[in-house]
Amino acid sequence: MFFLGHMVWAYVWAVAFAGRRWGKLLVPVVLLLGVMPDVDLLLRGFGVEHHTFMHSFFFWFVLFAPFLAVYRLKSVPYFVAVVQHFAFGDFFVGEVMLFWPFSRAYFGFDTAMVSVFDVALETAGLLLAAGIMYYNGDLKRLLSVDMRNIPMFLPLLALVTSMLVFAVDWPIIPLVAYALSSPLFATIVLAHIVLAIFLAVSTAQGLRRLQ
Ligand SMILES: [Zn+2]
Repeated sequence: MFFLGHMVWAYVWAVAFAGRRWGKLLVPVVLLLGVMPDVDLLLRGFGVEHHTFMHSFFFWFVLFAPFLAVYRLKSVPYFVAVVQHFAFGDFFVGEVMLFWPFSRAYFGFDTAMVSVFDVALETAGLLLAAGIMYYNGDLKRLLSVDMRNIPMFLPLLALVTSMLVFAVDWPIIPLVAYALSSPLFATIVLAHIVLAIFLAVSTAQGLRRLQ
């Protein structure tokens, strides 16, 4: 799954688990946590393999244990934002070492990226997240002139970086060359542009408060 799907579904799942506390969710943190397991992509130079221990329940449970112990229910939506990355996104579109270190087996449906299923799932997540944001007031909050929106530049940076990586080398021929070649590619590229614009506007609105 692309960063796009991981981010929008992180929001959907986090809101679902936040219950009545959704209004206090730190959205930039939720979006960033949604892509956090893919930090293993940056560690490949150190012998870390993608989709291995950083995509396991145990690894993140240990990291989150102090937060779960101190903040209890309040930290659950953030934990869910990370867990859905591999238990939902990469599980349906890919395969991951869910139960490392107890099992080194890969679990998942191993659907290909930019398959009909993948694009449908990611686009559905984007529309669902947008709908929830509209109805629960987060959209208004995230597009208002408020300094608390400045940290939205962090998920923006992560998304744009992933777009550049995929644009220049995925898998061999640049994604940009494919962008208009099929409805699937065009849809996933358009979805990326929509999310990037939203994050950029939110950040800009936050920065306006500084003037
Ligand atoms: Zn991943």
